[in-house]
Amino acid sequence: MSEQHQARKRFGQNFLSDPNIIRKIIDAIRPQPGERMVEIGPGLGAMTEPLMARLGHLNVVEIDRDLIARLKAAHAPDVLTVHEGDALKFDFASIVPDGAPLRVVGNLPYNISTPILFHLADYADKVKDMTFMLQKEVVMRMVAEPGTEEYGRLSVMLQYRFNMGRLFDVPPGAFRPAPKVMSSIVRMVPRPLAECTATDYGVLGRVVTAAFGQRRKTLRNTLRDFLNEDDFAALEIDPGLRGERLGVADFVRIANYVVMRSALTEEISHFSNENLV
Ligand code: SAM
Repeated sequence: MSEQHQARKRFGQNFLSDPNIIRKIIDAIRPQPGERMVEIGPGLGAMTEPLMARLGHLNVVEIDRDLIARLKAAHAPDVLTVHEGDALKFDFASIVPDGAPLRVVGNLPYNISTPILFHLADYADKVKDMTFMLQKEVVMRMVAEPGTEEYGRLSVMLQYRFNMGRLFDVPPGAFRPAPKVMSSIVRMVPRPLAECTATDYGVLGRVVTAAFGQRRKTLRNTLRDFLNEDDFAALEIDPGLRGERLGVADFVRIANYVVMRSALTEEISHFSNENLV
């Protein structure tokens, strides 16, 4: 496709232009003929064309109307299905109505990287794997271990649902225009559902958000709306620790305890109300 396109900052457009890097990314994805795949933000098609060639057919989600028109003019619908619009609102399950495992790839627009990862986490049960290019700093936070500076809400919420690994870094010079920051390729593979044992994902999210809301404060302070001293003792968690010391499994234990206790409280109040009548 012709490169006569004025890159739009508001859509986070930095187009891959280094053929060696493009090849390395495609090799890391290892597309196999017939696999169901969707690329987020195909842009000028740097990854799109080699992916189509290996798969036979590819889905893409693109927001920029000029790029959509170019993609449609350059490729027939039997090899490329273009879904027009915002990937943050896109129903990824619509691509796999038969339940076939979906592979998701993309050089993601950096300005929406966190919301798109959370949106995609909702489809984890339909997904085989996801391979993305993101700002290196975001990838470091995704894969961070407890006790490190990068470890936070993004690490816990994504590691709860995915096994993740940073594959390699990509320097700014591989793009036109060049971004200011280093990028990395990350692979995300959904964990088996049997390992995802949070009884209420929303409660897990609220506990994790509170624990990292004020990083310097101890759990006794940050989780005071959820747990008292007796609760910490029952959970065998030291309330003097900071959130960054807890692993994903600890957060799941806390969230499940909170859910169980509020169910018990409800049952007790229901029981005593009944006995009053
Ligand atoms: N894949 C191309 C490449 O590697 O050269 C382009 C990558 S560029 C970093 C990001 C792409 O995502 C652009 O094509 C941009 O128009 C598109 N994009 C930005 N925001 C989007 C959104 N909310 N939904 C879908 N596509 C979006």
